[in-house]
This record gives sequence, structure tokens and C-alpha cells, in this order.
Amino acid sequence: MTTDTPTDLPVVPHWIDGAESPSTSGRTAPVFDPAIGVATKRVALADQAEIEKAIASANAAFPAWRDMSLAKRQNILFAFRELLNERKGELAEIITSEHGKVVSDALGEIARGQEVVEFATGLAHHLKGEYSEQVSTGIDVYSTKQPLGVVGIISPFNFPAMVPAWFFPIAIAAGNTVVLKPSEKDPSAAIWMAKLWKEAGLPDGVFTVLNGDKEAVDGLLTHPDVRAISFVGSTPIAKYVYETGTAHGKRVQALGGAKNHMLVLPDADLDLVADSAINAGFGSAGERCMAISVVVAVEPVADDLIAKIGERMATLTVGDGRRSCDMGPLVTEVHRDKVASYIGIAEEDGATVVVDGRGIEVDGDPNGFWLGPTLLDNVPTTSRAYTEEIFGPVLSVVRVQSYEEGVALINGGAFGNGTAIFTNDGGAARRFQNEVQVGMIGINVPIPVPVATFSFGGWKDSLFGDTKAHGAEGVKFFTQQKAITSRWLDPSHGGINLGFPQN
Ligand code: NAD
Repeated sequence: MTTDTPTDLPVVPHWIDGAESPSTSGRTAPVFDPAIGVATKRVALADQAEIEKAIASANAAFPAWRDMSLAKRQNILFAFRELLNERKGELAEIITSEHGKVVSDALGEIARGQEVVEFATGLAHHLKGEYSEQVSTGIDVYSTKQPLGVVGIISPFNFPAMVPAWFFPIAIAAGNTVVLKPSEKDPSAAIWMAKLWKEAGLPDGVFTVLNGDKEAVDGLLTHPDVRAISFVGSTPIAKYVYETGTAHGKRVQALGGAKNHMLVLPDADLDLVADSAINAGFGSAGERCMAISVVVAVEPVADDLIAKIGERMATLTVGDGRRSCDMGPLVTEVHRDKVASYIGIAEEDGATVVVDGRGIEVDGDPNGFWLGPTLLDNVPTTSRAYTEEIFGPVLSVVRVQSYEEGVALINGGAFGNGTAIFTNDGGAARRFQNEVQVGMIGINVPIPVPVATFSFGGWKDSLFGDTKAHGAEGVKFFTQQKAITSRWLDPSHGGINLGFPQN
């Protein structure tokens, strides 16, 4: 037990060998309903024996899954897609009850995950190899893409369905078996999806859920039967996962934290900018890795823009995500307090608190983990409120005098996940997309999450590894290539030759 929450709460189990696998470690952690501030479940925290059991099951399932025809594998993907589409409402409610985001937003994340499932239904096309005839006399060369084996996915709390779905549809369609370690803060979505896979006809052991904390993560990172790790979470843990996983010979992609800037040029449509800043700053209570957390206003627009953002903030409703609200609570009390502390830090460092979300009135239980939308102006770029990821509904404004100053600010940061420019000048936008040191860029689009056919991932401290999520890079990550050089003997067989093969 890790806290003094009631011990008679239901325990979210693991999913091993195509069935719920109750916790045997004796270790659990509380899972809260953030809108009422109460632990409603506990989640199993795996020990070494459970880690071994989960990985052994996935390993045993691999040969038959790898050898199943592509057409049969694809049929299971299609069935999963249909079931997910029909029953996504159930999943959205589960997400809201553990994460807190409003139900419409939970449906949005499921839709983006479903996109990757749809991409994976056509994976046969992406698994095609290449063929060159007659590269040398009588010799052909061709390549194939094969699955790796058992792959681990370790996901964060903020997208309990979408982030795992960035990876598992492609990993599974390519013939791998998956062990998913969800966030211990909202683990039930993973179990729900495991049941859906079973219903879709996926053989037991191909999709496993191992609930846990650092012990489960370390188990995946060091186990010899795990071939690759896809991780998403905060930067310090992403770096640790990358270093530990690669030191144990694994292929690792570790997506980290973010601090996303929106650069507003003086010619931008300020109403569009204000709407976008609200949507991207406060959607999902700012708990999105692609949330905008800093508006960089090129003067003289800052005063007008702040007024427009402030007007819109006054209309936002905060409350229980199951009701008709714009924004829900934060995920835990600890996280809410951490986010709120940055408002004080900014204030002490000289920022102006234009709108203060502390102590906001909500449409929900007073014990929920609430923090209202907050707007800070003139945030010093030396303040920790500027340099660190806040991951909550706190939007900072930094005023600059020129486009160049704005780009230098963005490029000077540690993170490089997403950014956006707002302007009506195509030349400026084109220059920005070329100069900015960030992996995903929006032009008059505040949350530029690429669609599933492209790849998702940032630069610098926002991604450790060489490969991004989904799209062509996702296929590359979950497959290994073979090159085959072949000759079928004919009467021109050339006899003994000890020289190095050449044309
Ligand atoms: P987190 O780093 O606390 O946890 C992520 C995962 O790591 C969880 O499964 C957790 O159990 C595990 N973990 C936590 N501490 C660990 C430790 N000491 N050793 C090993 N494993 C550990 O992140 P979070 O709070 O769940 O999620 C929010 C973070 O994720 C933010 O920083 C956000 O920017 C980032 N994020 C990034 C992206 C992206 O695409 N770059 C997407 C979503 C979220």
C-alpha cells in the first residue's frame, strides 16, 4: 500500500494471457476521480514475478502471431476499429472518471487514437519490401520487413487511450507482441482496450497490460526478451528510459516534455489568435504535451491580445467533466498544487497575474482538484514559470519587439515539441517553418498534431531517440529489415572465386 486510502476499493488488475490477472505483489496505488477528489479504485503495482509472467506470455505468443498471414492480422485490426468506433463512449467515460478531462475531449483523444488504428489496417502496404533484379550477373537483391518480437509501451497519464494507440496498432499489425505499462494515475482505459482486442479476435498474449510504477518500467527496460521500448512522459524520465533501455541493447524512442510557444506577428487576426490561445492553452486543463503555454506577442499587439484573451477566459466554465463544462480538474492534488505554485513563482519574479485561477468557483464537488484558467503577463524569461514545463491551465505572455527576437526566444529553450506562428504574411510563415528548431509546427494552427499518416515527435529535450511515433517512422521503429541476395543456378555458374563480391 502506498497511501492510507481505503483498502476495500476494487483493484485494477493486469491483463495477461488474454484475461484479467489479479495483483499478487501486495503493492497497489490509489486511483482518484479528480472531479470529486476521492480514490475510487486502487491499481496493481507489479513485482518481478508479475513482470516475468507478463513478458513470458507476450514472448510465447510472438511466433504464432508473427507467422499469421497479413490478411488475417489485418482482419483483426478492422474488427478492433469497428468495436472501438461503436463503443468509444464507454472508453470516454472511463477516461473522464480517472483523468478528469471533459467527455468531449476524451472522445477527441479516442478519435486521434482511432486514426492510427485505421492507418494500421492498411499496414500491408507499408510492409512491402524492395526488389532489384540482376544487380550482378544472375543475382537479385530484395528486402523484407519483419517484426522485432516483444515491444514495451510506457505511457503518461494525460492521454490514457491516444498515446498507447500511437504505438500498439502499428506494432501489432507488423507482427510484434505488446506489453503496455499505462500510467498508474489512470490505468483502466488500457484494460478496457485489452478486452476490446480480445473481442476483436486477437490471440491471447499479443496485447498485455502490466500495471505498475518504476519497478515495472525497469523490468521492461532491462528484460532480455523485450526488444524495443516506446515511452512517452516527462523529460527526466524519458532521458532515463532512453539511456537505460539502449544500455540494455534495446531500440528506444522516448518522447519527453514540452513548452510550446505561439508567436503572434502584428499582422495576425487577433480574434483568431485569442480563440486559438484559449483552446490550446486551456483544453484538457493544459495537460497536453502540445498545449500552448507561452504566447510570444510581437509588439504592439500584446495589450489588445491580452484584452481579447481575458474576455474569452471570463466565459469559460470549469467543472466535473461529466457535466457540460469547458474544462475539468487536474489529475491529482499533488499535480494541481505544483501547477498552482508556478503562479506564485511568476508573481514573485515580476510577472503580472492578469487572471488568477486559484480559488475559482466550479460546477462540481468542492473537493475536486481544481485550478481555473490563469493568464500571466510580462513573464520574465529567467523565471522558472517560463523555463520549466508547468503542464496545467497557466498561459504566459512574453512581449518581444520583433520576429527575430521571438524566434531566438523559442530556439533558446530546452524543449522542441510544438510551436505555432500566427500571421497573414506567407513569407514570414515560410521563414518561421524553416528557422524554428522545433519538431511540429503550426501555421495559424495552434495544436499542430500531425495526422496518423505523418509522424509525431519533437526535437531536443522533447524526444530521445531517432524515430518518431506513427506514420512511416512508426513502421520503421517496429520492424527490422532484411536484405536478401539470391542466385538460382543456371548453366553460367561461374565456379570458385575468393574475391570480395562485386559486379
Ligand atoms: P511521467 O514521466 O511522470 O510518467 C510517464 C510514465 O513513466 C508513467 O507510465 C510512469 O509510471 C512512469 N514513471 C514515472 N516515474 C518513473 C520513474 N522514476 N522511473 C521509471 N518510470 C517512471 O509523466 P506523466 O506525468 O504521466 O505525463 C506528463 C508528461 O508527459 C509531461 O511532461 C508531458 O509533456 C509528457 N508528454 C509528452 C508527450 C510527447 O509526445 N512528447 C505526450 C504526452 C505527454
